[in-house]
Amino acid sequence: MAKVMAVNAGSSSLKFKLYEMPAEQVICSGIADRIGHDDGIFEIRFNGNKIRKIVPMPNHAVGVQMLLEALISEKIINNLDEIEGIGHRIVMGGKFYSHSVLFDKEAENKIEDLCDLAPLHNKAHLVGYRAFKAVLPNVRSVAVFDTAYHQTMEPVDYIYPVPYEYYEQYDIRRYGAHGTSHQYLAQEGAKFLKGIEHPRIISCHLGSGASITAIRDYKCVATSMGLTPLGGIMMGTRCGDIDPSVMKFACEKTGKSVDEMYQIFNKQSGLLGISGISNDTRDILKASDTGDKRAILANDLFVRRVADFIGQYYVRLGGADLIIFSAGIGENVGFYREKICDAIGEALGIKIDRVLNGPLRGVEAVISTPDSKVKVVVIPTDEEVMIARDTYSILGLK
Ligand code: AMP
Repeated sequence: MAKVMAVNAGSSSLKFKLYEMPAEQVICSGIADRIGHDDGIFEIRFNGNKIRKIVPMPNHAVGVQMLLEALISEKIINNLDEIEGIGHRIVMGGKFYSHSVLFDKEAENKIEDLCDLAPLHNKAHLVGYRAFKAVLPNVRSVAVFDTAYHQTMEPVDYIYPVPYEYYEQYDIRRYGAHGTSHQYLAQEGAKFLKGIEHPRIISCHLGSGASITAIRDYKCVATSMGLTPLGGIMMGTRCGDIDPSVMKFACEKTGKSVDEMYQIFNKQSGLLGISGISNDTRDILKASDTGDKRAILANDLFVRRVADFIGQYYVRLGGADLIIFSAGIGENVGFYREKICDAIGEALGIKIDRVLNGPLRGVEAVISTPDSKVKVVVIPTDEEVMIARDTYSILGLK
């Protein structure tokens, strides 16, 4: 048995989950949030207990320090030496990584070089990694890339029709994201695909960030996110795929710079931009229930984009055996699942059981009827357990 920490460091938060491996038993989990603020939040859950503190949280190192202190003071572990490995989520592995690797100096340098492609994410991951390294210098780490699973795409699925030299010289291409989640969903989906020789899966990770992946034989064939996690379907605050001319035209009309508009596409678009209310579907559903036109439009646009991508991937795969819904929206909100299935139902022969679909919240279930041409399921995603699994195996822990 070995204890392994799965870490997801963002620019202002650091989420953690400590596992007993290989049992995959969660020992504790939590978050250091609002990093950079005087009223930072530290929260840890263990053994049915929850501790929440509002404290100054100037940087990631303070969050890591609080975590390690809590592990000892709350007797979650007896000694920090019990932590034998740390797995770090890394959003951008570029063309270099098709699987997780030991987080050594070489990986650190490569991840630094890749900051260009995912500045907000990779920088934060490195800060998180270094914060752990500073206090636990002898514990080995593993880097688990969000892009790795998508490295099986063929050029026809990842090359953009811009001058080819941009791909050759600057590595401009589709990389995708959420790969760890899609891989987990494909593996979990296998239990619904017994006896099918070359299974075709369309996995829909619909959270505040959202992406859809076409999977054949458990390998990624195509995915909706692009060079960065801005591409693909519309999301909570991100616009997804739009005509690139919108950038030039909107900059000219508003007088904003490309950088400012890029921020707007990332932070003020999507469900938030259309509804003008929120990026959170809970708020949007409340408003649409009262007849708010923009909230209704936001829902319609979201459903349309997801349905269009499913249709595209159905064709790309020559059909589908399984459609998976997952992440915050996919796992919790029957409303969107039903609307999406209605939008693709006629063309693809998909029928869902409205009773089964209705009350589901965060549990695994089949929601299609027995005579549906494609099985539709909900599977709660678990990126952390994938990080823990890779860390355990790459470090050769026992
Ligand atoms: P994630 O990024 O996977 O954590 O998903 C977060 C998003 O899922 C939120 O911003 C909401 O839009 C949506 N969400 C999560 N739980 C619910 C719920 N119970 N009802 C409606 N939407 C939810």
